[in-house]
Amino acid sequence: MSNIVLRPKKNFGRTNGCVRCGRKRGMVRRYGIRMCRQCFRETAPAIGFKKYS
Ligand SMILES: [Zn+2]
Repeated sequence: MSNIVLRPKKNFGRTNGCVRCGRKRGMVRRYGIRMCRQCFRETAPAIGFKKYS
């Protein structure tokens, strides 16, 4: 339940795409994270967000 899935492969801070899959569509840039909606949805519960409960 608590395993963090945030794993930036590429240069963090440089890319505008998702830090998880590199996508640039449906980006969620709130909360200081940069992930696409898909990854955000999967990662949100792990990092404390329960918006998609
Ligand atoms: Zn993604």
